[in-house]
Amino acid sequence: MKANIKQVRSVNKKFNIFTSLRTNPTPPDPSPYAPLGNTTYAIKDNFATRKEPTTCSSKMLEPYISPFDATVVTLLDQSGSSCIGKTNMDEFAMGNSTIFGHFGPTLNPVYGQAQDLVESYNETQFFTKDTVSKDDGEVITSELAHDDNHPHRSSHSYITAKLYDNAFERISQDQRIVGGSSGGSAAAVALDLVDFSIGSDTGGSVRLPACYTNIYGFKPTYGRISRWGLVAYSQSLDTVGIMSKDLNTLWKVFTSLDLSDPKDPSCLSESTRESIAIERLNSKKNVGKKFKVGIPVEYQLEELGANVKSSWKMLLTKLQESKLIEVYPVSVPSIKHALPTYYTLCTAEASSNLSRYDGIRYGYRVKEDECNTEVEPEFITTRNSGFGAEVRRRIILGNYALSSYGYDSHFMKATGVRGMLIDQFNRIFRDRNCLVHKKHFQSTAGVDMLIVPTTVSEPPSIVDFSQMDTVKSYMNDVCTIPMSLAGLPTISIPYGGDSMGFQLVGQHGQDYKVLEFARLVE
Ligand code: GLN
Repeated sequence: MKANIKQVRSVNKKFNIFTSLRTNPTPPDPSPYAPLGNTTYAIKDNFATRKEPTTCSSKMLEPYISPFDATVVTLLDQSGSSCIGKTNMDEFAMGNSTIFGHFGPTLNPVYGQAQDLVESYNETQFFTKDTVSKDDGEVITSELAHDDNHPHRSSHSYITAKLYDNAFERISQDQRIVGGSSGGSAAAVALDLVDFSIGSDTGGSVRLPACYTNIYGFKPTYGRISRWGLVAYSQSLDTVGIMSKDLNTLWKVFTSLDLSDPKDPSCLSESTRESIAIERLNSKKNVGKKFKVGIPVEYQLEELGANVKSSWKMLLTKLQESKLIEVYPVSVPSIKHALPTYYTLCTAEASSNLSRYDGIRYGYRVKEDECNTEVEPEFITTRNSGFGAEVRRRIILGNYALSSYGYDSHFMKATGVRGMLIDQFNRIFRDRNCLVHKKHFQSTAGVDMLIVPTTVSEPPSIVDFSQMDTVKSYMNDVCTIPMSLAGLPTISIPYGGDSMGFQLVGQHGQDYKVLEFARLVE
């Protein structure tokens, strides 16, 4: 087990990692038979949990407590791990820095001397009242309750941080962004507060902060881990990701979560999972053969820093010298269009997903006297003051892409480019994409894996980033987005010095091949 509660609180004062911390976390299962016994974890604050608020680092959801746990939370509980708290993020997972959310910035622990950002903690206690279904005796709902007399009442308490009013002024020039949007989850692992953490990766949000903090960050194949209970940002791209310093732990967490879930319609079915496993066993008969590694020419970007280029070369040379791999240049032409394609599709989906926050059903709502209902109805004022600037920007972009002006020229075009990109990836990999029917698959002499950088350069300073042009800041996602559009399993491994990381990318469904390869590289 990692740090105790007292240590966690004192480290959190400097780095502002958690949006809430459990006061009395359930101890981890001590049994040696529990797959994740004796481990603790932290989870990004866009996963629904019953024991504390689920805020997505947004004012819009600040008061919201979910009546259910996300599937991943239930599975981790069953595997014996203990959750200690929820982690800070970019609002609604939109961003790559973890600095502009409603709960203030998280700092990158790799750089600079940190002053306290957190002034004090507030404790909140509440009760959940479980309703028992008459049919099967199973708990079906739970809701907030304040009466003490209920037989199925359980109490929970958590603490939240109060930041100094001048928190931003307390950040020194040499402190860098932690990356995002799962920045809190990455910092919790980097500072040894937990054994692993859970994040969400829509366009790189697990891989980028993992790279910036020198840890592993794994984005599995789209649909491999259930998204039920993960607040939707862009549902055709959202995946559940895992971060750890230790590959074995990461592997065990993945096996505990790698299950189909009828509650998530995009989760891979049992039969697809079976066929992946059988093909994997068959291909293992080729043991002894070298891994064929592809280097897409489209990653030779002008923006790549000199350090990144030289570390990339060093990594490939090391692997070639140890006779583990053969390297081939490959080409995936649509990678060049991935960034605008991604930002068109994710904003379109986000604008539609975020329409549910109207201040009527749950979450934040402005007070009646704060708005002129005739000129501006309550839900508009609620949305204007509940969402931050980046979220509002994306709603506007997304609405444009879905409007009659933008639909054909932007949304449909982007969907087409995404299809071409997937096709091109299918042609360069040796393995079958598990979503392509066997009768349409011709085995080729393709590659097993791609190795590409996770980022073009080291993290910028917080001061520089906060003054950066928004569109320019989207450039930080250029290396991670192609795999998200194609749903490919990808791990970012630390290599080459501080904040340097490389992605190992496999064909759709080849998650275990990627993890095995990461072990070889270790
Ligand atoms: N930075 C990207 C975005 O803002 C990716 C975010 C993510 O993966 N959640 O959309």
